[in-house]
Amino acid sequence: MLVNKLFETAIIGGGVAGTSLLFTLARYTDLKDIIIFEKYEEVSLLNSNPKANSQTLHVGDIETNYTYEKAKRVKKASSMVSNFIHHFGGVGEIGFVRDKMVIAVGSDEIEKLKRRYELFKTLYPYLELWDEAKLKQIEPKLMEGRKEPVLAMGATGQITTVDFKKLSERFVQEAIDTEKNIQIRYNEEVTRIVRLEDGTYEITTDTTRFNARSVVVNAGAYSLLFAQSMGYGLDYAILPIGGSFFFTKEKLLNAKVYTMQHPKLPFAAIHADPDCTQEWCTRFGPTAFALPKLERYHSLHLRDFISALNLDKDVTSVYMDLLKDKTIRNYILRNAVEELPWLGRELFVKDAQKIIPTLRAEEIGFAEGYGGMRPQVIDKKQQKLLLGETRIADSGAIFNMTPSPGASSSLSIAYQDALALCAYLGAAFDEEKHLSEIQNREQGAGSK
Ligand SMILES: Cc1cc2nc3c(=O)[nH]c(=O)nc-3n(C[C@H](O)[C@H](O)[C@H](O)COP(=O)(O)OP(=O)(O)OC[C@H]3O[C@@H](n4cnc5c(N)ncnc54)[C@H](O)[C@@H]3O)c2cc1C
Repeated sequence: MLVNKLFETAIIGGGVAGTSLLFTLARYTDLKDIIIFEKYEEVSLLNSNPKANSQTLHVGDIETNYTYEKAKRVKKASSMVSNFIHHFGGVGEIGFVRDKMVIAVGSDEIEKLKRRYELFKTLYPYLELWDEAKLKQIEPKLMEGRKEPVLAMGATGQITTVDFKKLSERFVQEAIDTEKNIQIRYNEEVTRIVRLEDGTYEITTDTTRFNARSVVVNAGAYSLLFAQSMGYGLDYAILPIGGSFFFTKEKLLNAKVYTMQHPKLPFAAIHADPDCTQEWCTRFGPTAFALPKLERYHSLHLRDFISALNLDKDVTSVYMDLLKDKTIRNYILRNAVEELPWLGRELFVKDAQKIIPTLRAEEIGFAEGYGGMRPQVIDKKQQKLLLGETRIADSGAIFNMTPSPGASSSLSIAYQDALALCAYLGAAFDEEKHLSEIQNREQGAGSK
């Protein structure tokens, strides 16, 4: 077995999280030797693939499952992605400017949306309320056959859709263009990470052994398994939640259309998205259901799955808590049935009719090959399902678990990790350059 030179940082995982860190380290730090491992043949074949996720740049303006505080955080984090897209000329190729809105159906939801608008317009001054007449004009399908009153809160002129795989590819290209020593190891699966006595890390792959002074694991659910193999994150477990989609046969909408969140449900309500991989045809979803897998459309590694579940009485109590609520129980059951052929479509169309009332089951089909896995983290100590990203960091080792909105927040997480690595390694971070290219521009600014 070959032993390679000492790298300053090793990154495990070539999704949008790993590649955004590669870019950030290469462009804004004086670190020279960086290596990234991806077990498949290209970047972003799993959750960061446009077929796996909803392609939404989550900004927090139309996501009614976010509190004001969370929306503020996500706004700041995701602005780095839109800034990157503008700065590096990716508008129309990586990120797409399209209309977006959240619709409130029925008087209760309308009242809630009006209150939300009053609160959130300070954070998002560009938000507008669109009444039925306006909706009829811009999205007639939303209004056809609708019996209940509806109101929308929406925006125009923003980057709403991002192909996170293309974004990852651009991150890699920009990193390579810095002419630093960047090694990219595709088709190379990391099997073990060990901290040696001298404080460096030994990274073993299926063919070789590498050494690095620091290591960042951005490997989805596997990040937690690596952390636990090194004695970290033992209080966490993973609840793998699958998400599937349905396609309409024709393009029915121009805008991303979100629905109001049911306050009891942990996962985002379904939405309709114009899909950038299918000539902007309308895609509905995602569903949310527990699936015995860590990677969608890849074979199950039972041992890894059991380790990730980390089942004990604390984890079981989180499951029981979720299941004892009737709304959540029905939601879980309904989402599971929606996976079944034929019956699934008949049931799903009822949810989708909240967006397009005249939609019929024959007009939609299960999006075969689409969908991904959310590695939701359970905090065993607090007996709580954590939503959003979880990070473990110690002694130059960082492990990120990044369910939604992880792709939108990728550059922000990378920034945080890069600062931590620079402090640990005694390296410099070019804050001024990062500020001017990544942190400063507001959504809606023109591209360079
Ligand atoms: C249904 C669904 C909808 C979503 N919609 C959105 C959305 O609209 N907007 C948004 O911002 N987020 C969304 N998300 C979340 C988003 O997809 C993730 O936050 C993001 O893709 C995570 O990126 P990542 O790089 O951490 O993980 P991944 O993209 O899964 O990448 C992990 C990489 O690590 C590699 N890897 C794993 N183990 C090893 C190993 N041992 N050695 C080498 N490589 C390894 C894998 O092959 C993979 O390429 C959605 C997720 C789902 C499931």
